[in-house]
Amino acid sequence: MVNLCTDAGHGGTDSGAAWGGVLEKDMNREYTLQLNEELKRRGYRVLTTRKADFSVPPLRTRCQLVNEHHRQESPGFDAVVSIHCNVAAAEDQATGQLRVYPNRRGFYAIYSEESSKSTALASAIANACKDAGIVLSHGGMLSTVKLGRTLAWIHRTTPPSTLLELGYMTNPEDLELLQQESYRSTLITAIADGIAKYLRI
Ligand SMILES: [Zn+2]
Repeated sequence: MVNLCTDAGHGGTDSGAAWGGVLEKDMNREYTLQLNEELKRRGYRVLTTRKADFSVPPLRTRCQLVNEHHRQESPGFDAVVSIHCNVAAAEDQATGQLRVYPNRRGFYAIYSEESSKSTALASAIANACKDAGIVLSHGGMLSTVKLGRTLAWIHRTTPPSTLLELGYMTNPEDLELLQQESYRSTLITAIADGIAKYLRI
């Protein structure tokens, strides 16, 4: 039996990004719940960090919970997938104002170069998204080395893991697509296809 863990980023008092009247935590949860259904339909066992809108521990503690579960389960999680949405906005050092980059768009999977399994997982998902015609950012995958920072989810989780940035909420096309049911189905099918391909390696 394949054991998977999914994580809907943020939750409760932690909204994550907020843009165009949409809260990232809500989008993450919608996608995660639908991804869970798709993965279960394919015969996998799925555990998820949050199904409702409640506050969950910060990433480090979340990872410890996942690792604890991974240790106790036999044979543990085959893969862990965390769902997030992105914004391209940064504070201008000189003026202190928020600068937005609305042209940045697309999907990518973040992974650790140190883990060949995590790299293979991210690569399989990125390729499946490319095949499905999803617009990609960074060629579909980005290592935490290139990202320029470590992410607890990826560096502290024992099983192979990837963090998916589904799209940029600051890009009008991405934001609209992310809210469309047909796009959601396409993206979720592609993510599940990628996970399936990874499991066959
Ligand atoms: Zn996020």
